[in-house]
Order: sequence, then structure tokens, then C-alpha cells
Amino acid sequence: MSVIKIESLTKYYKRLKVLEGVSFSLEEGQILSLIGPNGSGKTTLTKIISGFSKADSGEIKIFGRSIDEFKKIKNKIGLVPQENNLDQDINVLENLIIHSELCGLNTKIAKERSLNLLQKFGLDKYQHEDIRNLSGGTKRKIMLLRALLTNPKLLILDEPTIGLDPAIRRQFWNIVIELKSQNVSTIFTTHYMEEASFLADKIAFINNGKLILNGKPQDLIKNMLENFVFEMKEKISIDGYKSYIYEDKTFIFTSNKESLISNLKLKKIDPSAIRETTLDDLFLYLTGERL
Ligand code: ADP
Repeated sequence: MSVIKIESLTKYYKRLKVLEGVSFSLEEGQILSLIGPNGSGKTTLTKIISGFSKADSGEIKIFGRSIDEFKKIKNKIGLVPQENNLDQDINVLENLIIHSELCGLNTKIAKERSLNLLQKFGLDKYQHEDIRNLSGGTKRKIMLLRALLTNPKLLILDEPTIGLDPAIRRQFWNIVIELKSQNVSTIFTTHYMEEASFLADKIAFINNGKLILNGKPQDLIKNMLENFVFEMKEKISIDGYKSYIYEDKTFIFTSNKESLISNLKLKKIDPSAIRETTLDDLFLYLTGERL
């Protein structure tokens, strides 16, 4: 049974179509990364899956249940939204206990779980600290920890590592990897292609509300493009190759470097770089936009 199964999801904000015909699935223990530029609909999608927003049409099943039965699945889902929504006026432990109580845990268990998780993440020294005194990275970690209080089987992270320094980002990913080993599935949005290809079992590109490509990171390039890209400082066109032009530069894909080199020599064109194709190239090739 898929953890998430979405078919033809469409969402409007008033007359603005924000998501159109989005379909994908996620299996137990899989990590899926949603990649797309600002405004492409990623946050809206995470809000719908975590029950904070309603789709206008389409079918959404989570743990085999329709999203309309959200109350029955709510505690199996842990959400870390993009904005800090911790209560600034109370301390860390109080934030965690109140959240657990809202999720239906009794106070004793709530306190026990909160303290265990704080200790596990090396954050117990902050338990009596007011939220406003914490660094941005610590606040994000507390939000992640809060999402884990109900032992969720599905974690939804909206731009979890944006603005974090590399060490804290790394800690975040170690937690996601550890959860995967316990069969927890994760869906996360990001702007960082490197992070997505390192962590995700599946990547989904979103652009203008449409899911334009979805698959294993290593298969996406293989199925769509060649493994090398030649960069040219000028706009040129050359038949028989996949290519794109971005900011007056031309990018040409090939699996046979020697043949393209001789082809370009005939035209007296020197490439400014020859390198391996990346997912950024693929995104640009498909959308004409940089992340
Ligand atoms: P992303 O997370 O990819 O940046 P969002 O899902 O936040 O994209 O936004 C997608 C589109 O929906 C944008 O055009 C945004 O302005 C619009 N939008 C997002 N939330 C609302 C809202 N509550 N009301 C109206 N429009 C919204």
C-alpha cells in the first residue's frame, strides 16, 4: 500500500490555478523531494497533504485512506512548515508538551517523549529557554523534533534547510536518513538540487503548478538527456543534438564527446566548458527557468 497516492490534484486560490493535474505516489520508507522555483506550488501541495488546505479536485489517499478522513491519519503525519510557528512566549518544553496534548497524548507521556527527543537531539539544555532566544537553526530543529512527537510514519518538510549552515543542514539530513531506516517516509521541498539528489529516492519537478517529471535521481538524466554537456559562450544552433539557450549561452548535450568536438571544430566554435550533465541542466532544459 502506498503511503501517499495522489491522482489529478487541482487547486485554485480564487481564480488562480496553483496546482494542475498533479499525480504521484510515495511508498513506505521512501524519500521524495519536490523541486521547483518560487511560486510553483510546492508549499500548497505540502499543505494539502498535511490537511491544512483542501484540493478543488483529484483523489488523495494517505495510508490508504481518503484525505477526507484526515482525523484518523493526522497523528501518523509530522509536518515542519516553512515559517517558524513555535509559540514565542513559552519555553521549548512547554511548546512540545502543548503540541503533544493537542495531538491527544496525555501530559505525562507528552513530557516523557519531549524530554527523550530533546536528549536524543542534544537539545535538552534548551528545554527551559524561551523560543525567541534560540538561533534560527535551533528553532528549525525544535520544529522537526515537535513533528516527531507522535512517532509519525510520514514526515512533510517544507524547505527544511533553507538558510541553515552546512553543519546543521547535515544534522537534519542525518535525522531523515535515520527515520528512513525505521520505514518513515519523507516528502520535502527544496531549492537545493544537490541535497535532493543526495537524499531522495524520488525527485519530482514542479513548474507552474504542474508536476513535469518524476523519478529516481539517477534515472532522470539518463532517460531524458545525454551524460555530457558542452557550454558555449554564444548562441548557436547545431542539428542532431538536444540543447538549450540560457542568457545567450548555448548548452549542448551528447554522450559522444569526440564526435561533438569535431563537429564544433568544423564550425570553428570552441566550447567554454565540457562537463557532466546535472539535474540543474535538466530542469533548465525542461522549463527554461533556473531554480
Ligand atoms: P512555492 O512553495 O513553490 O513557492 P506556493 O505553493 O507557496 O509555491 O504558491 C503557489 C502560488 O499560489 C503562488 O502564485 C502564490 O502566490 C499563490 N498562493 C499561495 N498561497 C496563497 C493563498 N493563501 N492565497 C492566494 N494565493 C496563494
